[in-house]
Amino acid sequence: MRVMALYQQSDIHSKPLRSEEWELPEPLDNEILVRVQACGICRTDLHIIEGDLPLVKTPIIPGHQVIGVAVKVGKNCTKIKPGNKVGIAWLRKTCGNCNFCNNGLENLCEGSIYTGYHEHGGYAEFTLVKEAYSYLLPDNIDDIKSAPLLCAGIIGYRAWKKTKLNSGKVLAIYGFGASAHIITQIAKSKGVVVLVVSRAKNHQQLAKELGADWVGESPKDFPLLPHSSIIFAPNGEIVPLALQYLQKGGRLVLAGIYMSDIPPLIYEKHLFYEKEIISVTSNTREDGIELLKEAFEIPVEVHVECAPLSEANELLLKLKEGKINGSGVLVMS
Ligand SMILES: [Zn+2]
Ligand SMILES: [Zn+2]
Repeated sequence: MRVMALYQQSDIHSKPLRSEEWELPEPLDNEILVRVQACGICRTDLHIIEGDLPLVKTPIIPGHQVIGVAVKVGKNCTKIKPGNKVGIAWLRKTCGNCNFCNNGLENLCEGSIYTGYHEHGGYAEFTLVKEAYSYLLPDNIDDIKSAPLLCAGIIGYRAWKKTKLNSGKVLAIYGFGASAHIITQIAKSKGVVVLVVSRAKNHQQLAKELGADWVGESPKDFPLLPHSSIIFAPNGEIVPLALQYLQKGGRLVLAGIYMSDIPPLIYEKHLFYEKEIISVTSNTREDGIELLKEAFEIPVEVHVECAPLSEANELLLKLKEGKINGSGVLVMS
């Protein structure tokens, strides 16, 4: 099978992913072998490839937003049959018996491992997944447009739930990439007013098309203050500004797995008046099930930019440079 593998972390300009031919893996009793149809690219892949996150397995095949078809199932599998459409996400496995796992917080499990990081992911023609961590998907969905739901969608959805907003409330979104363009549509479907802060003209345009109520370059120009805000950009510099332009009692949600350092906060200006900050770490399988159900029902329109598997380096470079509008997706030939 054709794969794109990472041996050494380096800047994406130097094309660190190598195209290679690997032997087809054999599923364990609780695993499924999946023929990958489409795999979304994610900023986390960039953080792994470029070294913002440590390399924990070498070589590693990145990719954790996979839509594919089950071709072989281990003998202990009961939910997925060969021929079923399957989704694979970032959360790969948890211990199943720690305090977090037992209290609906498996995303915080100390023993959790991740797809395309601890084990091989979807930048490949075939990949493995544990049945218990796979999503059984409807046959009639668009594989390419659904792939970004598996991380951009799910992590964005967890961030959205953390805002605790409902109809009539105001949400501000900082950074308008893959997650933001999905969550804007979910928030709008709930009757929430959405303000989008982005400097990129192409992202501003997409935000308007998807129904954002206000789009601009700075929160200083907000027509009204948000009840909650989500920062999707990996830029800690934004945090004080986002706190300043938040209603009293408001909540700021940090959605990234990685963020550059946050400057010092001034108590009165940024935190007083019962403002809260909360981060989002990974997701639970419940988040995934809820997001997929809502996204197919609304239905969320995912904007994609596609490339063949062999052009993973090039597509990731476009992501880094902010040139992708919506989500980048690798498509198997
Ligand atoms: Zn656990
Ligand atoms: Zn991701």
